[in-house]
Amino acid sequence: MINYLYQEQNWKTQLSDLITDPEELLDILNLSKDQLLSGSLLASKAFKLRVPRHFVEKIKKEDPLDPLLLQILPHHLELEEHDGYVVDPLGEEEANQLPGVLHKYKSRFLLTITGACAVHCRYCFRRHFPYQENLPKSQDWLNIKTYIESHPEINEIILSGGDPLTISNEKLSLWIERLETIQQIKILRIHSRTPIVLPSRIDNELTKILKKSRMRIILVLHSNHPNELDDFTIEKFKSLLHPNIMLFNQAVMLKGVNDSAQTLVKLSYRLFEAHITPYYLHVLDKVKGAHHFDLDSEYVDDIYTEVLANLPGYLVPKLVREIAGEPNKTPLYGKS
Ligand SMILES: *Cc1c(COP(=O)(O)O)cnc(C)c1O
Ligand code: SF4
Repeated sequence: MINYLYQEQNWKTQLSDLITDPEELLDILNLSKDQLLSGSLLASKAFKLRVPRHFVEKIKKEDPLDPLLLQILPHHLELEEHDGYVVDPLGEEEANQLPGVLHKYKSRFLLTITGACAVHCRYCFRRHFPYQENLPKSQDWLNIKTYIESHPEINEIILSGGDPLTISNEKLSLWIERLETIQQIKILRIHSRTPIVLPSRIDNELTKILKKSRMRIILVLHSNHPNELDDFTIEKFKSLLHPNIMLFNQAVMLKGVNDSAQTLVKLSYRLFEAHITPYYLHVLDKVKGAHHFDLDSEYVDDIYTEVLANLPGYLVPKLVREIAGEPNKTPLYGKS
């Protein structure tokens, strides 16, 4: 049973009170430290444990294999080296045109406005990315604007990170106002996992900011498992319902977390309850430290076949891989 201790707290208070100590996490979950702690401590040196308390409330106690726990608990297997698993699998450093600008696809680019996330996901392909060197400063804005204006094919900006919803509403407003001054930008996309792990981030002010923009707003969430979507979280998403706002979800297929058709089908229906449309189902990017989450491609194909057979088309996410240098995400079904 979840007791909703933290959900009503102000999100900034919660964000300043994350769990970062593996020992504390294992204590809360009544898990034995002998097996898990030493690996956790080692792996969290490379990429720190970071998780909001509300998310931890959704983890089943005394279950070391809980699918939510596996996504956040540092593991000794992360320290293994494996052929083909590299620091920058997507060639992002090369695609970096200006500080904060990651332009790979024609009509849209990622604008990374913060390096911080509300949660550290162990499989994350950005875990090694040198954010701090890459964040745009105030004086970079004019260069970004010039860049956009010299690429008339750009009609959409994707706020990314890190996680763009870890910044304050004031700062977010400032970015939105800047982008609104450029007439060619019709769509603002926000890629964020924060509302999933810290649903109170969807506060009244954020809701207002998004509803009043002249740009169409697409909020792309990142949830991998139906247990992440408790009733409180779903109610929060309902407060975003508005003709100007669309909600999508991207998930990553992860061994031990959501590698069954049943789980993925449940996830889609749970998203549907929250008025979120499944968008992408990514296969894992081969990032150093994430090998133990990877699945063999025939197995992925089999699961996806079963997902197709058990959902209406509008609840089936597109199965894709991101391949460095390609002009779009690569559809996988039948090809992987
Ligand atoms: C994934 C990604 C996008 C968005 O791709 P869509 O297919 O439009 O969702 C845009 N730019 C970069 C650099 C990306 O990695
Ligand atoms: S929230 Fe997103 S960017 Fe941040 S660690 Fe998780 S997957 Fe990576």
